[in-house]
Amino acid sequence: MKTCTKCVMLDTRPRLSFNKDGVCAACEWSDIKRSEIDWDSRSQELHALCDSIRGKQRYDCIVPASGGKDSTYVADKMKNEYGLNVLTVTITPPLETEIIQKNMANFLSYGYDNIKVTPNPAIAKEINKYGFVEQGRPLLSWTSCLNSVMFRMAIDFHIPLIMFGEEGETEYGGSTELRYTPYYDIDFAIEVYTYGNDPQKYVKGHDERELSLWLYPSKEELKKADFKVAHWSYYENWDSYTHFTFARDHYGMKINEGRNTGTYTGFGQLDTPLYELHTYMMYLKFGFGRCLQDACIDIRGGRISRSEAIDLVNKYDGEYPEANIPVFLDYYGMTKSEFDAVLDRHANKELFEKKNGIWSPAFSIR
Ligand SMILES: [Zn+2]
Repeated sequence: MKTCTKCVMLDTRPRLSFNKDGVCAACEWSDIKRSEIDWDSRSQELHALCDSIRGKQRYDCIVPASGGKDSTYVADKMKNEYGLNVLTVTITPPLETEIIQKNMANFLSYGYDNIKVTPNPAIAKEINKYGFVEQGRPLLSWTSCLNSVMFRMAIDFHIPLIMFGEEGETEYGGSTELRYTPYYDIDFAIEVYTYGNDPQKYVKGHDERELSLWLYPSKEELKKADFKVAHWSYYENWDSYTHFTFARDHYGMKINEGRNTGTYTGFGQLDTPLYELHTYMMYLKFGFGRCLQDACIDIRGGRISRSEAIDLVNKYDGEYPEANIPVFLDYYGMTKSEFDAVLDRHANKELFEKKNGIWSPAFSIR
């Protein structure tokens, strides 16, 4: 297993490439952002795009929003700096937390329209359970409709632009295809963001209409609707810590006291306790969890050193989500031994060994 020489990301991350000096694509991109990208000209591009669409429909732009730091930041900019009439769209996560509901209500009180879409929770649970058991993806339903719902809303409400937050592949290491273009198309979304999943193949007994929020509009519909799908991280140097301080200082965003399970920070991904399981499964499959991801972002942002990151990763990464195990069992309708069998199935046996009933790393981050 290889570790990036600048951050601590592992080569087990899907689609991540390394240069000849052992630097990962995300760190390479972080340097390019600082030295080569002309952010003023990218901002002018966005002004031109906004000028071309403003006022032609009831809403100019969809910003997918959860009440978290990043969407708060992007919605604020699109409304106040770029002057668009923004519709924020929320997809209810499974087991939605109180803190995210309060943050969202508070954010909206500053003057935003919002549509909250709740895909059939019974079907969502089926998809999530399938995702957890078969693929080690306990939030499969939620993560796969994050794109399809927005596409559907853009068509149904005649909205010419969807502005997503960061393009994760570029920012965190993966495909480098979208470094120099703000837009992406449906094929990319299906391939990368929904892992090529199609609920019709594995959730039985529901017709296409019942599954419509998980299914992408047809190519004909998309062509006719003619809207653009862009990501904010093309237009401004993406830094989630800056978004956090902005959301806290300008919108009074609240965070959990102390740190989140599996990491040293307390401000990211507060939507659902299932996120803990999502990152724990990622850890068992690939050897990196929530802490390692956070630490890489902080190294690239110049807030911590690589050796500090290694200490944090050794302390917190892959922390077993003990406190919420009963919550997970209840949600998926599983016994503890059925749940453990899923972990056993997906744990990477080349990276982990089982000690006292818990998978422990047989590797160390250096
Ligand atoms: Zn790196």
